[in-house]
Amino acid sequence: MTARRPLIAGNWKMNGGLAQVDGLAGALARRLADTAERPFDMLVCPPATLVAAVAGEVLGSPLMVGGQDCHTAESGAHTGDIAAAMLRELGASHVIVGHSERRADHGEDDATVKAKAEAALAAGLVAIVCIGETLAQRDAGETLAVNRRQLVGSLPAGATPANTVIAYEPVWAIGTGRTASPEQAQEVHAMIRQVLGESLGAEAAGAMRLLYGGSMKPGNAAELMAQPDIDGGLIGGASLKVDDFWAIAQAVQ
Ligand code: PEP
Repeated sequence: MTARRPLIAGNWKMNGGLAQVDGLAGALARRLADTAERPFDMLVCPPATLVAAVAGEVLGSPLMVGGQDCHTAESGAHTGDIAAAMLRELGASHVIVGHSERRADHGEDDATVKAKAEAALAAGLVAIVCIGETLAQRDAGETLAVNRRQLVGSLPAGATPANTVIAYEPVWAIGTGRTASPEQAQEVHAMIRQVLGESLGAEAAGAMRLLYGGSMKPGNAAELMAQPDIDGGLIGGASLKVDDFWAIAQAVQ
């Protein structure tokens, strides 16, 4: 099997200001610089207002910077939106697309998420494509079907292990303190890899990184990331605290 380097990604959501440029991103970059052995990649996705400042702060460090969303179009009359190339110009290497908060708050469907991911790839960004079921869907026994449908509908054309990451984020676990059990998460991750194999081939599917997201914290990160198909985390709340985010990264085996 292809060795996959875990990715520890922080989603700051609509949190943080100029104080976090040094206090959070800078602090993480300094810890990375002081760490000889680092079996993971680390990414922070601050609000768009901070992408340029964070990218400048961590320049030369292995800490990567990403956006939290991008528009489907390259440019144009889309007031308040941000094009993928704009994020790239500021120093971003990644962008999250299809987060369940975007799907819920802005009515984004799979076709929109796919178009955003394709815009990200066209701009040279890595797309982190989020999928996940609601509690009602899980209780109705629809978890695998929902995630399969979202994955197939949201996967960008031209996806490769180098330009695309999939994040499985059960909606009922995001920001709730409820975490999927390692077995629940692994079941979905295994299905994701199988579906990726059907569309991209076994080699690409085996090399693509699949992140778990949903109340990941220092206390549960190790058992989640020990699962064979979980290659890191997309972390919200715990990514806002240097020590917690760092401790999650240390949980990589
Ligand atoms: C997220 O926003 O992607 C997330 C997983 O949030 P939290 O870790 O706070 O549940």
